[in-house]
Amino acid sequence: MSGVFLRERCLGRIYAGHPWVYASDIQTVDKVVDDGGEVVVRTPSGGFIGTGFYNSKSRIPVRIYSRTKGEKLDESFFRRRLTGADALRKRIGMSCEAMRMVWSEADFLPGVVIDRYGDSWVLQTLTLATDQRKEMIASLMEEVFGAKVIVERNDVASREFEGLHQQKGVLRGRADPGMVMKLGRARMHITLLGSQKTGEYLDQIPNHVAVGALSGGKRVLDCFCYHGGFALHASLGGAVSVDAMDISQDAVETAGRNAELNNAAGIQWKVANVFDELKSMQRDGRTYDLIVLDPPSFTKTRSKLNDALRGYKEINLRALKMLGTGGLLATFCCSHHVDGETFRNVVLDAAFDARRLLRWKMTFAQGPDHPVIPAIPETEYLKGYLFEVVSD
Ligand code: SAH
Repeated sequence: MSGVFLRERCLGRIYAGHPWVYASDIQTVDKVVDDGGEVVVRTPSGGFIGTGFYNSKSRIPVRIYSRTKGEKLDESFFRRRLTGADALRKRIGMSCEAMRMVWSEADFLPGVVIDRYGDSWVLQTLTLATDQRKEMIASLMEEVFGAKVIVERNDVASREFEGLHQQKGVLRGRADPGMVMKLGRARMHITLLGSQKTGEYLDQIPNHVAVGALSGGKRVLDCFCYHGGFALHASLGGAVSVDAMDISQDAVETAGRNAELNNAAGIQWKVANVFDELKSMQRDGRTYDLIVLDPPSFTKTRSKLNDALRGYKEINLRALKMLGTGGLLATFCCSHHVDGETFRNVVLDAAFDARRLLRWKMTFAQGPDHPVIPAIPETEYLKGYLFEVVSD
């Protein structure tokens, strides 16, 4: 195997467990290596650190996949990783029909994401080396997880950084377009091939349940509702009224069908741009008791951070203005470029401008099927806070 010799300055991060080697971290590569092939990652003086896979086209040319000497990127390696991920989910004891079973670096499989929807599974191979071994991974999913149907959702823009095309399709079995599953307390229509992400925002399911439990007797607004996870749980939790909106017509249509499935009458769904709609609702003097803000990531790059923070501030400001004393704001941020403290400060800034005093009531996070490895900060991306408007 070729050896990749690192520069001194990245060693602290790499020894702490971070698997990414940037081009600027590399001092030399001692032999020619094919893209997608394995390399031994070494200290500047040649000491063994781990084994990684290589892609000269990527901004991250090496991702360390193992710290065990001599580990090849072969079937037994992937079997060990899938079995480990399975064992972790069993220990967590999640009983949901749908959950994330493999989560990339957080399950020590850089670039591999696997979600389970009952007997149907979704695979994403977002790095070149794992994409080249997609068939092997699919066969192991049958063996280790008992997967009957496997769909590939490789229509992810980040693949282009690896020199990969976007594609989606069925790898095993036949995808059932009419699946219904209980996620949290709500039954949901599941479409694996025609939706955002791998079908649902699985990372939010525990938070849907938590917000539902806070909704009894309240007038609730769900912004960026997608298929209605928060709105449905609010309705099932006894909200007196629920308004929900999303810019995607498809998402709102599915949300409406989900409401029928749950006999959750009285939810007003709307296709709208939240930025515009909050502005006009505020102008009309609308008020709510509980507002959920769950926007998409406003930035995928650090360079756009300030624009993103302005976006987060604007929606939080407008939402806070529609809440009176005792009103609740459940506000989320799914960009890993914005850490929890920065995000809270944005909300507090908005509260200052809106002349609202906030009490911090609860902290939300991605569900436990999306584990966090603090040495790999990118694994922690979803943060949310429940604030209550108070007055002295
Ligand atoms: N709350 C959802 C997940 C939301 S993901 C859940 O818990 O399942 C973010 C959603 O924001 C997507 O559905 C996307 O269509 C929507 N979106 C993106 N930009 C928007 C905008 N400007 N106005 C309204 N919706 C928007």
